[in-house]
Amino acid sequence: MSGRAEFMAVLRDVVEDYFGWREACLGGAADPGGPGFPGGPDAGALVRELSKRLARESTPWPSPLYLAHMTGDTPPAVALAYLCALLYNPNNVAEESSPVTTELEREVGEDLCRLVGYDPATGWAHLASGGHAASYEAVWIARNLRALPLAAAADPAARDLVAGIPRVSLANLPVPRILDLLDALAARGVRPARRGGGTLLFARNAHQTWRKCADLLGVAAEEVETDEHHRMDLRDLRRRVVDLVGRGRPVVAVVATVGSTGEGSVDDLAGVIRLREWCERRYGASFYVHADAAFGGYYRSLCLGDEPPQEEILKPHVREAFAALPLADSVTVDPHKTGCVPYPAGGLALRDRRASAVVATRSGYFREATPAGHYTLEGARPGAAAAAVWAAHRLIGLHARGYGRLLGGCLDTARRLHRRFPAPGGLVSAYDPDLTIVNLAGGQKVVGRALAALRADGRLWVSANGPAVRLCVMKELDPPRLDHVCRLLREAARACGPPVPGSTPR
Ligand SMILES: *Cc1c(COP(=O)(O)O)cnc(C)c1O
Repeated sequence: MSGRAEFMAVLRDVVEDYFGWREACLGGAADPGGPGFPGGPDAGALVRELSKRLARESTPWPSPLYLAHMTGDTPPAVALAYLCALLYNPNNVAEESSPVTTELEREVGEDLCRLVGYDPATGWAHLASGGHAASYEAVWIARNLRALPLAAAADPAARDLVAGIPRVSLANLPVPRILDLLDALAARGVRPARRGGGTLLFARNAHQTWRKCADLLGVAAEEVETDEHHRMDLRDLRRRVVDLVGRGRPVVAVVATVGSTGEGSVDDLAGVIRLREWCERRYGASFYVHADAAFGGYYRSLCLGDEPPQEEILKPHVREAFAALPLADSVTVDPHKTGCVPYPAGGLALRDRRASAVVATRSGYFREATPAGHYTLEGARPGAAAAAVWAAHRLIGLHARGYGRLLGGCLDTARRLHRRFPAPGGLVSAYDPDLTIVNLAGGQKVVGRALAALRADGRLWVSANGPAVRLCVMKELDPPRLDHVCRLLREAARACGPPVPGSTPR
């Protein structure tokens, strides 16, 4: 879309189509203002006032100087695709309430499978309201899968299917074997009573989602130590897994974060997969692996495509994590983080689509045999979000020259920012970020002062991460802008006067 004029022209056509459709729905009756709602103010004035307020008070996320949170820019054409679908209010709970956008979500699901390295023929991906919902669903699946072998062993109609498997293995059977068991149980029409429980493991700096998730699903949580790179400490993970497995305690899942929210760090996913293989050989016990790539997933596009991929911009261990992503059992990947689409658009990809059977439900009121809502945590879901993701993937391209170019530019900017704050005194970038979150530490006083000064100044937007100024790089900065940002940060750190009360970061 070349500019405002074309946007307006397309918008006009979209609106014409919409009113034509409404009129057809209403049997040709003229319908300029929709149904008459009783009372209330003038609708036009109401919406105009809302629009003015939004334009005046919204967060300035399109600005290159907005480095506060993970809100990327959304191309106007993508926003328009969202708006266009929104007018028809499709509900992707079932195809009968969203014939067009359910199809778009199916295509987007295949895109997301390919992005994380799953085979779309055997895997399955769908959209969710966000990383939270996607992750809850993943652990719900993992918990129910984990419980199945023990439940089968306790069920006279299924006991023979798991006969001879030692107790230690039964508590932590490899996921592919559980999926085969699931098939065998379905063939018999047997559904052993589910009994959940077990432990979810994730790193200390994992997203708050995981604590909430464990609480919600009634499973225990263990926080694994992190190393000096803010990555999960695999020795601590191994110690914990060995302890649980040895005691015959079910491990619900190990969550590896691919792009942590606070630090942009990427856990050693390949190492987690190797640990799982080692556990299988050594103890005949395994665990479900989930990758939280809510933030980092789209960076894998740097490794995709026919063109020479641009992997070399990724650190070797990040490349390795992306190479191992197809071996995780499921992946959270949020289009509304680095996928350049409006909220709400999270996503969950499953390596083996059979897994969703352990959370499937039935209802009598859908015409189709298998509405999406029978397999997803959420029910009603916005078809407009699917339309936006679909448009973004097609406009930008899930490969090195598309998203890869955009995100590679962000990575380059993050590296440059890191290098610009080397010396002790003032703000210091303590570690070279894996992905595009830069943390500038400088002690409570300096950081508090810098944050307060920036807030008062209102020209550069940043966030806090404990005793650090946190920069989320969601756009590439050209050299003059980069200089400008660095200057503003240095000035803020030097700003005199005692820290403003309440401005010191938590
Ligand atoms: C943002 C984020 C989440 C949560 O996603 P929402 O879309 O905010 O629900 C989970 N994990 C990571 C690593 C994230 O960055």
